[in-house]
Order: sequence, then structure tokens, then C-alpha cells
Amino acid sequence: MKVAILADIHGNFDALERVSEEVEKVEDVVVLGDIIGYGAEPEECVRWVVKKKAKAVLGNHEAACTGELSLSWFNPRAAKALLWTQEHLSSFAIRFIQSLPLVISDFLQALWVHGSPRQPIEEYIDHPFVAREVFESSPFSLCFFGHTHQAEAYVLEKSGRVERISFREGGKLGILPDSRYLINCGSVGQPRDDNPQASFAIFDTEKKVVEVKRVDYDISSASLKILRSGLPEYLAYRLELGR
Ligand code: ZN
Repeated sequence: MKVAILADIHGNFDALERVSEEVEKVEDVVVLGDIIGYGAEPEECVRWVVKKKAKAVLGNHEAACTGELSLSWFNPRAAKALLWTQEHLSSFAIRFIQSLPLVISDFLQALWVHGSPRQPIEEYIDHPFVAREVFESSPFSLCFFGHTHQAEAYVLEKSGRVERISFREGGKLGILPDSRYLINCGSVGQPRDDNPQASFAIFDTEKKVVEVKRVDYDISSASLKILRSGLPEYLAYRLELGR
């Protein structure tokens, strides 16, 4: 079976439509939170996730929209974008967001979460030291996460070493039985690893290979929609920078 893994779409429907073409023939889709926030088309992105019957978990931006997480947790631009997003979501989309679980633990013997297994909507796994603590805090062998917008993996090898692997230009990772994995497939709608291309992954469960792919999409269209919507301008520029 092949599973598409998407995270941090962030209301960027231009990027999502492009990724959607790539995952058309894939059996299952998992969305690892932050469908909304920052981008100008949150409703379209939520409806895509619903239509795809994707398995999805709650992100910190969803949690802010439903009031579960205080806006004071966010930087001023993100908070402003969240207020805008709340005003532009239908009650249908809000209800869907409210129904999302924090963690999925009963699918393909893996853990699926936005931030980290020990702090599902808050913690950023952005350094091997953090990854090691997370490995020690929970007995999973394979965990897919998002939140940092960096396409990368942390592998706890049999020797005890934690290796960090970057997927800035995409790449493949074979899942070995005696190692443990924390895999971030990158962000569809707001990559921050200096590569502005949309990022996502395909997990081939038979071959036990995760392939992170980076694809071009119409960034100027997504930026223009942000500029026209009244959202903070920086949110448009950062798409071009991939930061
Ligand atoms: Zn995010």
C-alpha cells in the first residue's frame, strides 16, 4: 500500500492542488495538522481534506481556531492570520477541525502527530537533542510529525546514535527493523527549509520506504491571494523565500 503524507498545508490551496495531482493514485492520505493559518484559502484546504477522506490530526493553528490554544502562544503575525482565518471559515470547517484527534496511533503501526508524541500540538522537534528526548519518552518505532516545516528525519540507530537526515531536495529513506524513526515530510504550504517547493511524502508500506518529494507550484498565485486578502504581507514574501 502507498500512503501520502502531507503536513502544514496552511491555507495554501495552490500548493495543495499541485500536491494533489501527485497523490491522485495513492490509496490513503494522512494530514499531520495545520491545514489552516497563514494562507488565503483555508476553507478550500479543509474541504479538500474532507473530500479526500484523509486521516488527519489537530495542529496548533486548528487548536487556536477552536479556542483550545490561546492566541498569546503565537507570534503577532501568526495571531493576526489566525483571527483572519477564524472569520473566513464556515461552521462546517470549524466542526471538522473540532473533530480532529491529537494523535493517531492505530494506523500502520506508526504514530502520527503534528508536534511530538509527548506534546502533540506544542513541541518542535528541531534538533537531535530534542529527538533523543522524544525517543526516550515514548516506545514508538516509527513516528511521522510536522510543525517545524522542515523536511527531515531523525534516526535512532542500534548503536544509540541519533542521525539527522535532510530532505531539503527530497530523498528516500528505508525503514529498518532495528532502528527507530522520527520523520517530518516537510510543509506543503509554507516550507521553511530554504527550499520554497511544496514538500510531502509517499510511504510505500510493502517496500518500507518513505520518499519525500519536492514540487514546484504557482507561488506567485498563492502570494497574490495573501496580499489581496489583507493578511500580513510578510506571509506572501516568505513563500518565495522558503523560510
Ligand atoms: Zn505549521
